[in-house]
Amino acid sequence: MSEARSRELYARAAKSIPGGVNSPVRAMRSIGRDPIFLQRGEGAEILDVDGNRYVDYVCSWGPLIHGHAHPRVLAAISQAAARGTSFGAPTEGEIELAEEIADRIGSVEMVRTTSSGTEASMTAIRLARAATGRTRIVKFAGAYHGHVDGLLAEAGSGVATGAGGSARPSSPGVSAAAAAETTIVPWNDLRALSAAVEADPPAAIIAEPLPANMGLVAPREGMIEALRQIADRSGALLVLDEVISGFRVARGGAQELLSVRADLTVMGKVMGGGLPAGALGGPARLMEMLAPAGEVYQAGTLSGNPLAVAAGLASLRMLDEAAYARLAGITERLASLLAQAAASAGARERVQVASVPGLLTVFFSESPVQSFADAAACDLAAYGAWCRGLLARGVYPPPSQFEAWFPSLAHTDDQLQRTAQAAAEAFEELR
Ligand SMILES: *Cc1c(COP(=O)(O)O)cnc(C)c1O
Repeated sequence: MSEARSRELYARAAKSIPGGVNSPVRAMRSIGRDPIFLQRGEGAEILDVDGNRYVDYVCSWGPLIHGHAHPRVLAAISQAAARGTSFGAPTEGEIELAEEIADRIGSVEMVRTTSSGTEASMTAIRLARAATGRTRIVKFAGAYHGHVDGLLAEAGSGVATGAGGSARPSSPGVSAAAAAETTIVPWNDLRALSAAVEADPPAAIIAEPLPANMGLVAPREGMIEALRQIADRSGALLVLDEVISGFRVARGGAQELLSVRADLTVMGKVMGGGLPAGALGGPARLMEMLAPAGEVYQAGTLSGNPLAVAAGLASLRMLDEAAYARLAGITERLASLLAQAAASAGARERVQVASVPGLLTVFFSESPVQSFADAAACDLAAYGAWCRGLLARGVYPPPSQFEAWFPSLAHTDDQLQRTAQAAAEAFEELR
């Protein structure tokens, strides 16, 4: 397996791009190797610049729920592009996208589209503070809500991957004042949550309802219901960050799957169909506080971009109940194949395979992972070695223990079985 061209590009990239990449996890440092430069994608497979082919389980970190270069998504993008790439004025597609989202998520009446999930969480925080007149934000350790200053404290995803996840604030350059306005609570710890909320009633409790940025760590029984009650009792807004779970785990996202209503919903990834997009949604009474309907400022030169809107709409329109049932089946099959692969290599005791429809994580842990502390205690070196073994066998996993696998509707059973074979061999190699 040649890597000559990827090496060459990485050396060149490192001279003009910090660390050679435009988002940290892509560098693959936490699995102890250099990044792989990609050339193209087709369905569930990607080709790198050296001609190596992989079954892809990153799928752009979630947006590509239909796989790479889906013909309908491409057609929607090229038709939109032919009409003009950006206007800085409203277009009909933006209304269709807002209507489609509101139709799917019961708690959402109105939608403001942004260019990223980060912007949407930033706006959610500003709006929650304006609506409540409070400042404090409560977030969960290991949750990631984009690279917003006040939300980087003990964040998951690339922050955890790079810094070990223990620093607070977890990036230099975040002011002590911004970090001090955020209270961090361990996920799945209701007592800690109640205590934090009582001590200083916050503007918002922000949560990933199915946290997937410390690996996938589902809520314990009763956790989500309690989250809603605790927010209501204290007058805080419940902001559910569905950037990953939205439009992936069910037609109406985690709110449908877990029967919970958010006050504000943060969205991104799948809704942009592989182009830059995010959104904030909620009831009119809150959303109309945003400018120009209200006074809370929020804007974006490329917000509601016609290409992103077209890609998002094309993706969402193919996601009916049958598609979600199929994705759930693909995920379940992959989870069971990976567990069998571990068993066949005598590694079943060493790993936990966590999954919900559309998301999965293989934790190198001897006991179930229920918090960021549990995730951080995983055998990260073994995970790294296993991932290197997968890559050498044509399977591209998320290159960090603190990220989820993103199976797509394009993954075929043959690809899943090849994945299982590679996984078994890579487990063997760890012995
Ligand atoms: C990816 C992600 C974000 C940030 O979205 P960007 O588009 O990368 O800014 C926010 N929240 C969650 C849960 C995410 O997974």
